[in-house]
Amino acid sequence: MSNLVEESLEKLRALGLRVTDQRRAILSALVRSEAPKSAEETHAALPVDTCDPVTAYRCLEQFEKAGVVERGVRENGTKVYCLSHGHEHHHHLTCRKCGIAEKIDLCMGPELEKAAEGFGYTEVSHVMEVFGLCPSCA
Ligand SMILES: [Zn+2]
Ligand SMILES: [Zn+2]
Repeated sequence: MSNLVEESLEKLRALGLRVTDQRRAILSALVRSEAPKSAEETHAALPVDTCDPVTAYRCLEQFEKAGVVERGVRENGTKVYCLSHGHEHHHHLTCRKCGIAEKIDLCMGPELEKAAEGFGYTEVSHVMEVFGLCPSCA
């Protein structure tokens, strides 16, 4: 489990970003939960006095740029973050009632990229989130 944190920190180091206690705490908070967390929830999960919410939010944005976390979005538009799991790009199936989330490997990325290329776009990215009711909430 902490392996993921170390892998992520290694990635940050390789990009020339300093590994601070704050950054380590934020990554640990994300690795502890399988479901993606909003910046607010991530901050709430940090040890007291780690940093203010704005700093936590900025760190998450940096992590996203560094490819260490993936950004998603809830049905209400709230941005959520999760660790890249040391693996490939992935998506989530989230229960809209209890918030539990499953990782799904299905992705239309290559197709979307092709479509965007047709419009002359480069550096294409996408966000895809799937919502429903899990078996225990249905
Ligand atoms: Zn549920
Ligand atoms: Zn995708």
